[in-house]
Amino acid sequence: MTKAYDPNNIFARILRGEIPNKTVLETAHSLAFHDITPQAPVHVLVIPKGAYVDFAEFAAKATAEELVDFHRACAKVCESLGLTGPEGYRAITNAGTHGMQEVPHYHLHILGGRVLGRLVA
Ligand code: IMP
Repeated sequence: MTKAYDPNNIFARILRGEIPNKTVLETAHSLAFHDITPQAPVHVLVIPKGAYVDFAEFAAKATAEELVDFHRACAKVCESLGLTGPEGYRAITNAGTHGMQEVPHYHLHILGGRVLGRLVA
């Protein structure tokens, strides 16, 4: 299934510097920033700089360099925000209408700092 990437989605605009963000980490291929409506004491979004709509597209089409950069950036965010202890964190991604994805640029939510409750459909 091919999904067209909307170059004017809000995260594309953040990447172009048209909208401000609270950056946590920037690497060659990835950007991590605080969610504007945090659902937990820590709520960071990590996005690839490349134009990928969702997880499946990123996993299928990104280069090895992009994939490694993205996941190492996620690990650094967890470490730098103190999430790697026994209390842990949650890393999730939404896709499409069933997944209730709001922004059509792949992003991983990293949440922590409180008990998050069970994931339910
Ligand atoms: P989704 O539902 O998985 O697509 O999540 C999109 C997330 O982006 C939501 O948690 C929003 O609060 C967040 N968001 C939307 N606009 C901005 C912004 O301009 N800066 C930071 N986070 C945003």
